[in-house]
Amino acid sequence: MAEHREVLIIGSGPAGLTAAIYAARANLTPLVIEGEPSSTSDQPGGQLMLTTEVENYPGFPEGIMGPELMQNFRSQAERFGATFLTQKVSRVDFSTSPFRIWIGDSNTEEPSYSADAVIVSTGARSVMLELPNEYELVGHGLSTCATCDGFFFRDQEIAVVGGGDSAMEEATFLSRFASKVTIIHRRDELRASKIMQERAFSNPKIDFLWNHEVVGYLGDSKLEGITVRDVNSGNESNINLSGLFIAIGHKPNTDIFINQLDLLDNGYIATQPDSSLTNIPGIFACGDVQDFTYRQAITAAGSGCMAAIDAERWLEEQTD
Ligand code: NAP
Repeated sequence: MAEHREVLIIGSGPAGLTAAIYAARANLTPLVIEGEPSSTSDQPGGQLMLTTEVENYPGFPEGIMGPELMQNFRSQAERFGATFLTQKVSRVDFSTSPFRIWIGDSNTEEPSYSADAVIVSTGARSVMLELPNEYELVGHGLSTCATCDGFFFRDQEIAVVGGGDSAMEEATFLSRFASKVTIIHRRDELRASKIMQERAFSNPKIDFLWNHEVVGYLGDSKLEGITVRDVNSGNESNINLSGLFIAIGHKPNTDIFINQLDLLDNGYIATQPDSSLTNIPGIFACGDVQDFTYRQAITAAGSGCMAAIDAERWLEEQTD
């Protein structure tokens, strides 16, 4: 028999945990299905679990470590009655209400949980190069977020991998801090929009290394350089640098919602403007799973708050 909850939250980054705090304080006793430890993190909690110091989260003038911030979010939600399940959702059925959610074996007829309202906050992940030692170096010279980490590279020589708008945007932002930014691209032509290309081309601090792929990282516990390969000649060489930003795209974690929720062409969940409402009444989405513009912990937290308030109001309307 499926266990029933008024509010069930899928995902435990800043969006999901903020939704949990608000829903718990509204006496909705939410269950957070928080995900599982992964090869990249020994605890769930989203992308901040892969971050070292967070200096731009308001309220922490001295900065705070990403995992500690997420533990604080979690404790705060627990304090008001949120409960947690450290497992992954394997299947959802949003076609009937109450909504049905499976964990573990998704082939069983009986779901694990049913819920009146569901808040989806499964986040997104940066596409990585998948090279040895990569995840160990994230936060130690290797980054996927210029807004978060650019400040740490003042007057240093750094590089950005990628040829799209993200890479141009990250490089342009990083040029405010770094002494030199090299954009490493695997082709001789950028994918980025003309305006973003021109901004990068005209920036005196930005150089381009064309037709090169990053094939290895130098340094064990801290990035000291990279090995690049010329895609035409196959020749490999080392470059010393203290920072590398990977900007080769993001992927929303929406696989289990395909054919369940309206997704945009880029795979993110479609939400109605200025709200967390999806195409299905009673299902709300917040954080990076529906935001491909801002992608910040603080914006995710803000949208988690919106989702909890939207869910609370929607539940209220159903009892009227
Ligand atoms: P993207 O447009 O998909 O570009 C990814 C880039 O990374 C491409 O240049 C690609 O090379 C390269 N790449 C992919 N896999 C790689 C690998 N394994 N090794 C080396 N290079 C690799 O992604 P994005 O730049 O994140 O942009 C995503 C979307 O958001 C786009 O629609 C973009 O316009 C939009 N966006 C807009 C703005 C803005 O307007 N301010 C800012 C950021 C993003 P190839 O070119 O060879 O495929």
